[in-house]
Amino acid sequence: MIYLDHAATTPIPPEVADTMYEVLKSQFGNPSSQYQLGLDMKKQVEDWRKTVAGALGCEAKQLFFTSCGTEGDNWAVQAACWQNRHLGRHIVTTAVEHSAVLEACRWMEKQGYEVTYIAPDGNGGITAEQVLEAVRPDTALVSVMMVNNELGNVYPIAEIAKGLAAKKTLLHTDAVQGFLKVPFTARALGADFITISAHKIGGPKGAGALYIGPRVRNPRPLLAGGGQEGSFRSGTEATAQIAGFAKAVELRTENLADKLAHMAAVKAYAAETLSAIPDLRIIGSGTAPHILSVSLVGWPSQNIVNDLSGQGICVSAGSACHQGRPSHVVAALKLPKRVAGGVIRLSFGPETSQADIDACAEALRRHHDTRMPML
Ligand code: PLP
Repeated sequence: MIYLDHAATTPIPPEVADTMYEVLKSQFGNPSSQYQLGLDMKKQVEDWRKTVAGALGCEAKQLFFTSCGTEGDNWAVQAACWQNRHLGRHIVTTAVEHSAVLEACRWMEKQGYEVTYIAPDGNGGITAEQVLEAVRPDTALVSVMMVNNELGNVYPIAEIAKGLAAKKTLLHTDAVQGFLKVPFTARALGADFITISAHKIGGPKGAGALYIGPRVRNPRPLLAGGGQEGSFRSGTEATAQIAGFAKAVELRTENLADKLAHMAAVKAYAAETLSAIPDLRIIGSGTAPHILSVSLVGWPSQNIVNDLSGQGICVSAGSACHQGRPSHVVAALKLPKRVAGGVIRLSFGPETSQADIDACAEALRRHHDTRMPML
């Protein structure tokens, strides 16, 4: 199998699986239990928190484990609106956020909030000025993703944070595709909430974290209950998932610069190789090292995905989360129908090789040469 869909999820290294199995098998204690088995687990969870927080560039006490990136996004939107409920009922976000943020904002619309959705340019670009100009005195929250999951565009979060520093408006960034892909530290970034997810960096599905910064005074608990995660997100800690998350972070951060350089080189090679295919066009101006969006103009993307899948090559037609529905991200670019309909996303990991790209290019060329354009 040739796996070119690392933005959807990533393979789990054996060390991560072994770590998780060991926890499931032998370290099954509840971290809230007061005997040694539980106390040991509590210490372990705090060590794992330190590992993830270290990679995010924040203090361990600012990092709260969640069950996924979607949960972190929902929590951030709710917590920001809660803190600023006296300020007003306006949210600024972008039209190209992941549905975890968009749907959380739509839910707030149902609660009477007004949401401004910033539109990207034709390459997926969004500027800090565009975002800051939309902010009003009653804006409770600005939520802008760090890296777009379909295009690889990197958005100017630090610049937006600077523009909001003197205001009460809180800033959330969904860094699910940015964490350990583009260099940043929570400390220097200046966002109030940062969402990350384990399964995009070689960790298990079902583990994520939310960074909550010092401007958030009294975060609204996401789950009330037994008081875990500083009483903000109750529920017995998913110890095996968290252990896997921390192990994945540990592995990914080893020689991270080399891994990122490798992914960027693979992406550059893919852009060059695929560009030689007739009717193929690069979409977006994504500079993230792991995501490349292209369109085989005129050939429906779902047919391409199916054809390549039959040859053991995994690529996605836009985001894996859309389940066949047209992608709102591609729609936001306002591309001609024949271009938009042919968009596929290739995404890379440290294991991706040039040979993988060659095989994909060959399959795409064959698809172009043997199938009729239908758009
Ligand atoms: N945000 C972005 C940008 C994503 O790419 C994804 C997953 O594809 C998510 C949020 C959701 O993360 P999770 O699958 O951990 O819920």
